[in-house]
Amino acid sequence: MMRFPANSVLRRAVRRAKQAFRPSCVILLYHRIGNGTDRFRNCVTVEHFASHLEILRKYAKPVALQTLIRNCASRQPVRSAVAVTFDDGYGSTFDWALPLLEHYKMPATVFVVAGMLNSIREFWWDQLDYIFSLPGFDHAELNHYYARLQHAKESERPNILSRLWSRSGQKPPVRTSHRVMDSGQLRQMAKSPFIELGAHTMTHPVLTRLDTVTRSAEIINARNVLRDITGITPMGFSYPHGVYDESTIDVVRSCGYEYACCSRPRGVASLGCVYSIPRFAVPDWDGETFSSKLEGWLASPAVSR
Ligand SMILES: [Zn+2]
Repeated sequence: MMRFPANSVLRRAVRRAKQAFRPSCVILLYHRIGNGTDRFRNCVTVEHFASHLEILRKYAKPVALQTLIRNCASRQPVRSAVAVTFDDGYGSTFDWALPLLEHYKMPATVFVVAGMLNSIREFWWDQLDYIFSLPGFDHAELNHYYARLQHAKESERPNILSRLWSRSGQKPPVRTSHRVMDSGQLRQMAKSPFIELGAHTMTHPVLTRLDTVTRSAEIINARNVLRDITGITPMGFSYPHGVYDESTIDVVRSCGYEYACCSRPRGVASLGCVYSIPRFAVPDWDGETFSSKLEGWLASPAVSR
């Protein structure tokens, strides 16, 4: 006797089929472009980044992030649409990424840690990466220190780092490859028709661990600093470490930001909430690997938010 699937099984199959036919859009997340050690997979070489852009131009539909969000929010996603974003605002975004983005006519959104502009001090994770490349540092300790620094208060981090530097017998390096942009670079970059400027707080904290006043200041001040330097008010926000909660969303929304990105690795088809937009972080893949990953992401069932 022929057996018919139960209703719930049928419903699941129909839902899966619907998802499969819904166009999935993808938002990519880059950090630093350049060379050097990088245990946290934040850095993509110039050559690999150029090949990623070439692949996007050939096989996808590159769009500005705001366009992708608008299309998905109105439930009219464009198949194979891909938007490029950068977090942190490294000088390498200006030096290496911007010329390539302009060459390939690729729009990108750059979320900048406003309090690090013009600083020669490196982000704590880049200092940590450097320290653990030195002799006498056991890789097994790296994750412990990463978690400790990530959750430390802004005022506690210099002490933790300075103890590690003392142990290493070296001084923190001043690497131009790891610096955040200066005001001049930011101003010039913001003028590019391919660039949208976004905010990424003042000091890159885990926002959910801050008290309400400090959290609001991180979110509001970043916007004001970037606006004062460039004359452009950032409309987008990116959560440091991808961490957020409902009350953080409320602050971001009430500050006037129109959308916010996290780093949940998912494709997107329709957007109910534009304050938790998922992105795929891209490590230093060669063109072939990037191409096959992108194909998978574009074909994977998208989430509806
Ligand atoms: Zn970041």
